[in-house]
Amino acid sequence: MVHTTEAALDKAELAARYARIEPSNWGTDLPGLVKTVDAPAQALALTFDACGGPGGNGVDQDLIDLLTRENVACTLFLNQRWIDANPAIVDRMVANPLFEIANHGTRHVPLSVDGRSAYGIAGTGSPAEVIDEVFVNHERLVRITGLAPRWFRPGTAHYDDVALRIVTELDERPTGFAVNGDAGATAATSAITDALLDAPAGAIVLLHMNQPSGSTAEGLAAALATLRERGTRFVTLSGDGTD
Ligand SMILES: [Zn+2]
Repeated sequence: MVHTTEAALDKAELAARYARIEPSNWGTDLPGLVKTVDAPAQALALTFDACGGPGGNGVDQDLIDLLTRENVACTLFLNQRWIDANPAIVDRMVANPLFEIANHGTRHVPLSVDGRSAYGIAGTGSPAEVIDEVFVNHERLVRITGLAPRWFRPGTAHYDDVALRIVTELDERPTGFAVNGDAGATAATSAITDALLDAPAGAIVLLHMNQPSGSTAEGLAAALATLRERGTRFVTLSGDGTD
């Protein structure tokens, strides 16, 4: 069953259907996660998380300028806390056709039906909390963009298999990554460049746009010329692209 609006979604009914299902798998690499795009050869799907919260509400303006100047189509995963902190920038991103806007959760926590943690961050603790983590920000993004977001990735990118199924019930695609591009914006420039140059065709690359003191923009800038020489085509997760 597919739900796209508040009116059509019975949260209590959905939560109740998953109340007694025990998770059997956990992590960033579960079956059912979208990690590559269906696209012609030479495609790369760069995705940039905006995580929000204390220490996470920054804007990597150099990166946004680079993507715009170099005409790099990509997907931006926005967390509700980051949206709250950066409304004017969000409006400009929504208006830019290079950027597909996706859902990076409401509180930015691991997606679990039983409170499992990742990196010391406690996950959602029940199916009802999973629904709110996905759908509160989903509705926010609908109001901002006029479109239902098609792609969801939780804070820390960790899921259990039951939570992953609930994402699908909410009519979003649970998204992972094939290449960890910037290690949470902590990686050095050369490591980011190497990760991009080594990424296989069709890979979803996880990067960040909320840490201006990180090296994500520099690492991408150093990789772009080589990628373009190879004929790399940059695509959003929905497949819109630029050469
Ligand atoms: Zn994040």
